[in-house]
Order: sequence, then structure tokens, then C-alpha cells
Amino acid sequence: MLDYISTRRRDDVVKNFEEVVLEGLAADGGLYVPAACPVITPDDMHSMRNVPYTGIAHRVIQPFTEGCIDSDALYRIIDKAYKNFDHPEIAPLVPVEKGLYVMELFHGPTLAFKDMALQFLGHLFDHILQKRDNKLTIVGATSGDTGSAAIEACRDKDTMDVFMLHPKDRVSEVQRRQMTTVLSPNIHNIAIEGSFDDCQDLVKALFADKAFRREKNLSAVNSINWGRIVAQIAYYVYAYLKLSAEKGTENIVFAVPTGNFGNIYAGYVASSMGVPVKKLLIGTNSNDILFRFLESGTMKTETVVPTTSPSMDIQISSNFERVLFDLYGRDGEAVTGTMQYFRSKGPFALDEAMMTRLREIFSAYRFDDSATKEIMRRLHNQSGYIADPHTAIGIGAAEKYIWNSPLAATDAVVALATAHPAKFPEAVEDATGHFPTLPARLAGLHRQEELLTVLPNDLQQLKAFIREQK
Ligand SMILES: *Cc1c(COP(=O)(O)O)cnc(C)c1O
Repeated sequence: MLDYISTRRRDDVVKNFEEVVLEGLAADGGLYVPAACPVITPDDMHSMRNVPYTGIAHRVIQPFTEGCIDSDALYRIIDKAYKNFDHPEIAPLVPVEKGLYVMELFHGPTLAFKDMALQFLGHLFDHILQKRDNKLTIVGATSGDTGSAAIEACRDKDTMDVFMLHPKDRVSEVQRRQMTTVLSPNIHNIAIEGSFDDCQDLVKALFADKAFRREKNLSAVNSINWGRIVAQIAYYVYAYLKLSAEKGTENIVFAVPTGNFGNIYAGYVASSMGVPVKKLLIGTNSNDILFRFLESGTMKTETVVPTTSPSMDIQISSNFERVLFDLYGRDGEAVTGTMQYFRSKGPFALDEAMMTRLREIFSAYRFDDSATKEIMRRLHNQSGYIADPHTAIGIGAAEKYIWNSPLAATDAVVALATAHPAKFPEAVEDATGHFPTLPARLAGLHRQEELLTVLPNDLQQLKAFIREQK
């Protein structure tokens, strides 16, 4: 059995994989991490060469579920999770420049990398809840980008009811339709007469109401959930195995367009497990808290500005706390102190020794909207590759890295493509002159029936609505 602990470790409670997945956030406010990281030996790596994506995912995820999920059940969960992807390789690697590959993580049902983790988490929840004969109510707020991935992950499952709030008339038509055309009886789309912040405040208020929380067994599927992280580790291992088998790659650099730090943190875990990761490159837009932190050693929030890469418009990167825990030598008291200070007072700084260690692993690059557009334009002209604005930020980071530190013959850089260009068609057309069309299976989106409920920005009415649904 693999034990999990909280990054704040105030009560030294040890949990197992199932508990950690169902709870999401630890009761002390911390994030769960394994007490000891499983490793993949070079021999294991060798035996995994030429295994298809789902097989590799199974080998990578299995040790994290030790003692909770039996191996066959895990295989079935993984199989169901990636069955709806429209590329046979699940996460194909596309060469774009010498030594630089784009790993496309957007071949799932909602065209964004969130599907890589959420499709897995949906089936995992379903399995655990069936086993426990239990039922969950999942509530979330979305500004448009991520709600559909959660809805697609939970649809048609009797073990879950989903209530997804979005600000009425403030998400794009495609974004709305990706959510509201899912007509499964367990999916409830709610358009709130208010802003995204109002939606988030309503969700927070629901969770803060302990009685309601217990009554409805409330849960969330946000990016700090360990079940999402494990699914993301798999594609880092996959990229390494594929490139080492086909190109003789020995050391690999990953460039990751970063918001909440969930994606790149999975790369950090892959590195801890034994993948020869030379560097992890953080790409940010103008919401650059991580870039400024790597530069200055001080973590300081700024107000969020809207950009052409909205899924990275964040004020803080929640999953960074997991790296902080390691930097502090896994001292939960120290993490607690720092995080409480950060929440209540403001900026905190790390000492030089910690920053040096951090910079050995991570580098950060920032691109504002005009720089992002320039990357998209140049890439399209030079290689014909069409990237969405998020993906372009990762590619931009990769290119800058290569310019500054020329690659050895056995090095490869992999930039993670996190959204299909058709998800952000205006920005893509503006940069490349090419309007990307939706893949065939989404082409009928504009004709499908929609189902949604409009509610005022009012907690009591929202609660009443949730209670009314069987
Ligand atoms: C969520 C998201 C990101 C950011 O990923 P994190 O794990 O939050 O760092 C980047 N690009 C796209 C398209 C996303 O949906």
C-alpha cells in the first residue's frame, strides 16, 4: 500500500489512493503527495518500449494505486478513458524543428489537454463509488474553457451528479454548446445571471456550508486532485520512451504552457520516477507570477489580466505547493507557515539555496499576446504547424531554450500542445490568416439541442435547484 501525506502535515494523517482521490484537498488545507515516490528502473523503461499508450499509462499509474485498485480494474479504467480519443497514438509527437517535437494532448472529446486527466478521473471516480456504493455531487464554476472537460468526464454515470455554473452570456457559443449539448440526466448546466467571480463565489459558499456539503456529498474535480496528476505523468514517460526508441534520445526537456502548475508538476514527478528530464520549461502569458518568482525569488500575486490564452489566466499556481513541500525538505510546518502568510499577508521569498535548486529543474519564459501571436505566425510560415495560443507559448519557451543552450545530438525538446487550434479560432486566424475548422465529430455542434437552466446569482435558489434534482 502506498501512503499519501498532506503538504501541510499538521496532523500527520496517512491516507490511501482512494481517499486522496475522493477528498481532493486535504482537511488541513494542504495537497496530497505520496509519502515516497515510486520509481521506474532503466530495465522497466526498456521493457516498456513499443508498448502502446494505454499500456504505458497502466505501468506508470499502477504503483500509485497500490493496495486500492486492482490491476485489471485499473486497466479497464484506462481503456475506457482513452477510447474516445480520435488519434490512435493518443498523444502523438509531431516534429516541427530540429530536435523539437510537439506532443499533441488535445485529441480527446473537448479538444484540450484537460481530457487526458479528466477522462481518467471520471472513470476512476465511477469505479471507486460503485465499489463503495456511494454517490457524489460534483459542483464547479467555469469561465468557459474547462467546464466541458469535466462534463464529458462525468456524463452518463449514475454515481455522480454534476452541477456546472457558467456566467450567462459571457462564454463563447462554442464553449457553451460543448457543455449544454450533453443531455445526460446527471449533467446540469446552470447559467448564472452574473460574472465568473459570482459563479466561483457561489461554489465556494456551497462548500463552506458544512451541512449542505455532507447532505449532498459535494466534491470537485479540480486540478489539484491527485487522480488527475497521475494520469498526466503517463505522457511524459510515453514521450521519453518513444523518442529514446526512435531517435536515440537520452535527455529530454519539456516545455509546458502553465497555469495552475498541474501539467508541469506531473513532469516533475516523472523526473522523480526516473525519466531523464534535463529541464522543465514553464511558459506563461502576461499573468506571469511564476516567471517573476523564478527571476526574483519572491512569490507575489498581481491582478489577472485577460489574454488570448485564457486557460492560463491565473493569479496563483496551486500545484506549486507540492514542489514547495520538497524544497522545504518535506517540512509540513514550514509549508503551512508560508502558505498562511501568503494568503493573509502577501509576498514570500525563498532563500538562495532553495532558488538554486528550483532553477536547476525549472526555467520560466513569458510571452505577452503580441509575442504569442508572433510565435504562431512564424511557426506557421516556417513549418506549416498551426498552434493555438497556449501551445504557442510552450513552443516559444522551447525555442528560446534551444537558442540559449544548443542541443546535444541525444537531446530532445518536447513542447506540450494543450489545446486544438479550433478551440481558439479567432486568435489563430489573426496570427496565421488561417481559420481552423472543428474536427468532424464536433462539426454538428451548432445544430444540436441544448439543455440549461438560468438562475439568479442567489445561493438559496441554487441550493433549492440542486436539492430538486432527484
Ligand atoms: C488548463 C490549461 C493549461 C494550464 O495547465 P495547468 O495544469 O493549469 O498548468 C494550459 N493550456 C490549456 C489549453 C489548458 O486548458
